[in-house]
Amino acid sequence: NHLLELRGLHKSFARTEALRGVSLDVQPGEVVAVTGPSGSGKSTLLHCAAGVLVPEAGSVTFAGQRLDELDEATRTRLRRREIGLVLQFGQLVPDLTAVQNVALPLLLDGTDRRTARTAALAWLERLGVAEVADQVPAELSGGESQRVAVARALVTGPRLVCADEPTGALDTVAGEVVLTELLAAVRDADASLLVVTHDNRVAARADREVVLRDGSLAAGQPVTAS
Ligand code: ADP
Ligand code: ADP
Repeated sequence: NHLLELRGLHKSFARTEALRGVSLDVQPGEVVAVTGPSGSGKSTLLHCAAGVLVPEAGSVTFAGQRLDELDEATRTRLRRREIGLVLQFGQLVPDLTAVQNVALPLLLDGTDRRTARTAALAWLERLGVAEVADQVPAELSGGESQRVAVARALVTGPRLVCADEPTGALDTVAGEVVLTELLAAVRDADASLLVVTHDNRVAARADREVVLRDGSLAAGQPVTAS
């Protein structure tokens, strides 16, 4: 039983065909790295998987539900609770402190303030950045920002985490810390991870690597048997 089933995805932007019939399955608890040259469609695939973008053709089935057929409000609600998103540059809300950023998905989902704050602090602690809880994003290093972003992605207890170059903006040492913390947090939570990366070290630590070229999965990367 797959957690995520992508079938025959097509997505175009103006004259660019970013995805040309991509199919991919992700199992519960599986870590899948998506690699390939710049412009091959990796980010587009990740955004379709996360329910942020809707493909023109093909299906996105998450935990048995067709994400591409849900109306936007329902899709957003499901995504907030079940799918964590980590982007290259933290994308933290600049006016909120680290702990407020991590608490935000819970508040949006109706959790009361005190519970949300306690959970957010526990996640910051878990990722080794409790000491920056009351600082705003501009005061954080790149590595700290990414660890706060990982905490925010995991705080709702998602079944799937989608990460787009989570270490791409970091130096080697900070990237290694963020990667290790991200993988450990995903494994502890029994979540699956779909991670877009240029970094061979990320791909090497995944359960499986799929390679995109010109909007298609390269030969030899079939959909896994279940
Ligand atoms: P990758 O992540 O592998 O670098 P992307 O998925 O970002 O690839 O992009 C695939 C192709 O689609 C590229 O040619 C890119 O320029 C184009 N593209 C992606 N997003 C947009 C957009 N919002 N508008 C126009 N073109 C886009
Ligand atoms: P990445 O590949 O890490 O996503 P990009 O610079 O390709 O980085 O994309 C950053 C953002 O810009 C994405 O939201 C993507 O959809 C958008 N984008 C990418 N290429 C284009 C493009 N040619 N025209 C407009 N938007 C684009």
